[in-house]
Amino acid sequence: MKFHRYLLALCAAAAFASPAQAALRVFACEPEWGALTQALGGNLVDVTVATSALQDPHQIQAKPSLIARMRNADLVVCTGAELEVGWLPVLVQQSANAKVQPGQPGFFEAARNVRLQDIPGSVDRSQGDVHAAGNPHIQTDPRNIASVATALGARLAQIDAANAAQYQQRTADFSQKWQQAMAKWNAQAAPLRGTPVVSQHKGFVYLYDWLGLKEVAVLEPKPGVEPSASYLQNVLATLKASPAKMVLFAAYQDPRASDWMSQNAGIPAVKIPFTVGGSEQAKDLFTLFDDTIARLLAAAQRK
Ligand SMILES: [Zn+2]
Repeated sequence: MKFHRYLLALCAAAAFASPAQAALRVFACEPEWGALTQALGGNLVDVTVATSALQDPHQIQAKPSLIARMRNADLVVCTGAELEVGWLPVLVQQSANAKVQPGQPGFFEAARNVRLQDIPGSVDRSQGDVHAAGNPHIQTDPRNIASVATALGARLAQIDAANAAQYQQRTADFSQKWQQAMAKWNAQAAPLRGTPVVSQHKGFVYLYDWLGLKEVAVLEPKPGVEPSASYLQNVLATLKASPAKMVLFAAYQDPRASDWMSQNAGIPAVKIPFTVGGSEQAKDLFTLFDDTIARLLAAAQRK
């Protein structure tokens, strides 16, 4: 009898201790927002990340397993700026979850908190233009991460008001550590300023803006369109007139176009982790930028 009561008490304690019971359920579209939510929410949040660093975030299948996870979510944290236009609206709609519909507090778009670049004058989607709302790859600039962190921390506090003070404290702690890390990265990356580079995909405009890199060419004729052999020849010809030091591609991308340019232009091809998990070293948001800068510096020093 005594033992039975002990067991019951144990079960009750386990139920209270289990984070899955009490935690805010968050559906993050990309690993960087999953990592940020985890950093700001700690054990108050239970984060599901829909994609990995090795998947193309423009092109995700709206699978039933993702719909099921969205159905249970209290908060959706995605990039926005139409990065997920091919799959997120389907998930949100199919989930029939009133809490996470656009316009609700449970629907958070990171890109609304930063100034977007590359906003096109006109858009022709038939040409495969996947950056119709401006460039969505905001996570490549840590200043953008800082802005999103402030907004996301406030949103978490709004949705889970009982724990607002904890989110505010965690957000303040994160922001302070982030400012220190940015000062370190700025100093480390100073030698990169002004370096001319080539991009495989127009995925690094915010990174370049932050570090002062100069994009002299892009391998894709339009965002999301693979270059043909003749197009690559044209880019190679333009590099004769304005040479670049390296060609950058994201971890999720097929590197063939970058490899071709690397061989033919005689410059290193640099794999950028692009998000958390994009390299062995990029285990969280801090090591993501540590590794990004280390890779750029290593390429810049190569002859
Ligand atoms: Zn893109």
